[in-house]
Amino acid sequence: MATTDGVSNGMTEPCAVCDTDTLHEVSVQLVTEAGGGENAQYSREPYRVRECQRCGNRESQRMNNA
Ligand SMILES: [Zn+2]
Repeated sequence: MATTDGVSNGMTEPCAVCDTDTLHEVSVQLVTEAGGGENAQYSREPYRVRECQRCGNRESQRMNNA
């Protein structure tokens, strides 16, 4: 395969689909969430989004664990 030099935010992490460690592109996105209750409070929560560069599987994980 081609060299991976120059990939700035690539990380090798396990992929559930590939069932092995693969290169992932990792980014953080702010996702607007509706809070519970009648007085809906919308908060922007950071999510860590990673995308497998091998199979394209994309996973997001909330960074603030309640
Ligand atoms: Zn994968």
